[in-house]
Amino acid sequence: MRDLMADLPPRVAKSALAAMVDDRMVDLSTPLDRDVSLRLVTPDSPEALELYRHSAAHLMAAAVTNLYPGTQCGIGPATDEGFFYDFVVPRPFVPEDLEAIEAKMKDLARQDLAYERRMLPKDEAKRYFDQRGEPLKVQLIEEKGGPVVSCYTIDDLFVDFCTGPHVPSTGKLKAFKLLTTSNAYWKGDAKNQPMQRVYGTAFFSESDLKAHLHRLEEAKKRDHRKVGKDLSLFMFHPWAPGSAFWLAKGTTLYNTLANYMREVLFPAGYVELKTPLVFNKALWETSGHWGHYRDNMFIVKSEEETMSMKPMNCPGHMLVFASEVRSYRDLPLRFHEQTALHRNEASGVLSGLTRVRQFSQDDAHCFVAEDQIGAEVERLIRLVQRVYGDFDLQFTAKLSTMPEEHLGEVATWQQAEAQLRQALQSAGQPYTLNEGDGAFYGPKIDFDVTDAIGRKWQCATIQLDYQMPERFGLKYVGADNAEHRPVVIHRAIFGSFERFVALLIEHYAGAFPLWCAPLQVMVLPIADRHLAFCESVRDRLAAAGLRVELDGRQEKIGYKIREAQLQKVPYMLVAGDREAEQGTVAVRTRTGGDQGARPVDEFVAAALEEIRTKGKNVG
Ligand SMILES: [Zn+2]
Ligand SMILES: [Zn+2]
Repeated sequence: MRDLMADLPPRVAKSALAAMVDDRMVDLSTPLDRDVSLRLVTPDSPEALELYRHSAAHLMAAAVTNLYPGTQCGIGPATDEGFFYDFVVPRPFVPEDLEAIEAKMKDLARQDLAYERRMLPKDEAKRYFDQRGEPLKVQLIEEKGGPVVSCYTIDDLFVDFCTGPHVPSTGKLKAFKLLTTSNAYWKGDAKNQPMQRVYGTAFFSESDLKAHLHRLEEAKKRDHRKVGKDLSLFMFHPWAPGSAFWLAKGTTLYNTLANYMREVLFPAGYVELKTPLVFNKALWETSGHWGHYRDNMFIVKSEEETMSMKPMNCPGHMLVFASEVRSYRDLPLRFHEQTALHRNEASGVLSGLTRVRQFSQDDAHCFVAEDQIGAEVERLIRLVQRVYGDFDLQFTAKLSTMPEEHLGEVATWQQAEAQLRQALQSAGQPYTLNEGDGAFYGPKIDFDVTDAIGRKWQCATIQLDYQMPERFGLKYVGADNAEHRPVVIHRAIFGSFERFVALLIEHYAGAFPLWCAPLQVMVLPIADRHLAFCESVRDRLAAAGLRVELDGRQEKIGYKIREAQLQKVPYMLVAGDREAEQGTVAVRTRTGGDQGARPVDEFVAAALEEIRTKGKNVG
C-alpha cells in the first residue's frame, strides 16, 4: 500500500489514518498482494475516532513504561468517550503523574514516531514479554494469540501485543488529555491483580477536545449523585447496595412523576395493577427467565420452595390476562404497573440512580390482536411524544428489525415491521433504522433522549412480543368465535423512575420546572414580627395545593434568599412591614429575578396556571 499512498495527492495521503480493505480496517503499511476493494480511513470516517483513541492508548502506555520502568501493561481499548489503559505500578498514580505522562505523550507525538507491526511466532512473543517482566501480556498471548502473533512497536520505546490497526505515527495524534485514574483489576475481577486504570480522551481537533472537556465539567456539576445530595432528594447506605432511600423531597418528586404518568395513562385506556413481588420459580420457568436471566434474580427460599423477587412485570401480567376468558372486544387490553422490581446487578457496576438493584418502571403491557399492532404502536408513539414534550426533552427514535437469531416466521416479522414503520410515519416521528438489532422475540422501537448538555439517554422502548403469549398459552375469542393468540407490546416511557429522575436532575441541573419541583415556594419573613403574616401566606398556598415551606429562622433575609436559590426553589415570597400591611408578597425567582410585590391570591392563581400548563404559557 506504500506505493499506492505515494501516488495519492499529498493532502489526501496526509489525512489518511488507516485503510478499509474488503471491509476490514488495516494499517496503511499493510502490503497489498491481491486485488481488493480499498477505502482510506480519514478523520471524517466513522471508524476513525476509535482507531485514533486506541492509538492514543498505546502512546500513553509508551509514556508510562518510559517514565516508570518496571510497569506492567494490561489492556488499553478505546471507549465511547476516549480511552484507558490498565497498569500494574508499584504505587497508585497521583495527579502530578498524569501531568508528567501527558507531557511525555506530547513529546513522543512531536517526534512523530512510527507504529510498526511485527509478526512473531507465539513462543518467541511469549518469551519476549516474559523477559520484560510482563506476565499479563504472556497470559493474553497464550489465551488469544494464534501460532504467529501480532505485536506493535512505537519506535524502539514500546512493544505491545495487539491485533491493531493503529494510526501510522504518533504525529497524527493532536488533541488529547488525560483525565483521571481509578482502581481496576486484571480482567475486571476483584480476585485478580489490582491495577491502576488511567483514563484519557482524544479528538481530531483542539476545539472538539475543549468542547468535550467543557461538557465533562458541566456534567460533573450536574451529576445527579451530587445534586441529589445537595437537594436532599435521596441517599444510599452500604447495607442496601444499589437501592435508593428516597428522602422527603425525593419521594415528593417520585410521587409527582408517578401520578403524572397515571394522569397521562388513564385517559389513554390503561388500567393499573399491583402484582406480587415474589414468585415461585415455576413462573420464571414458564417465562424463560429461569433459563436466561437467573443470575440477575434475587432468589428467596420459602417452605422448601424456590422463589424469586421479580426482575420485571411481564410474566405476572400474563397470568392476569390468562385469568379470565378474553374476547376480541376486550382488546387492546392495557395493564400498567409501577411496583418495585429487583435485579441482582454486580456490586461493582452499581452507580447512583442509573445502575441500581431496586427500581420501578412506568411499565405497561398492551395485549392486541395482530391487526391492531399498527394503531396501538402509533398511539404509543404519540404518548411518548406528549410525555417528552411535557418535560421539554428532545429525542430520537430508532426501529430495530429482525436479528439473525430469531423465533417465529419471517413473514410474521415482516408484517410486524411494516406495521411499525407505518405507525412511525403516521405519528410523524422521524427515525433511524437499526437493521437486525431487534430482540429475538420481536422488533422494537427505542427512543433516546438528549439532555441539556447533549448526552443521550436511552429511555422509552416499544417492543413487540409473539413469544410470551405463546409460552403462557394466552388466547382470546375472536369475532369468528375461534380462539386466537394475542400479541403483547412491552413498553415504558420513562423507563425506570430511578434513571429518569437521574436524567431530569442532570437535564435541569436540579432546577425542576414548577410543576414537578419537590418544593415549589419558600416563604421568607424579613423579621420575626412578620412571622404570623407569613404563616398565613404559607397556609393559603398549601390549601391551594402548592408545595410550600416557611423559612422562619432568625437569619438575614439575603442569606435565606441565597439558600433557597441554592435549593433551586422556583419561587421565593418575601414579606416585610409593607407586604404584611397590604396583604402582598415580594416575588423572587431562583434565577434572581425580582417580580415585585403582588397580592397573594394573584400569585397563587399565576402559579397554579403555570403548573397546569407545565410552564408552556409562562415567559
Ligand atoms: Zn493496539
Ligand atoms: Zn414487559
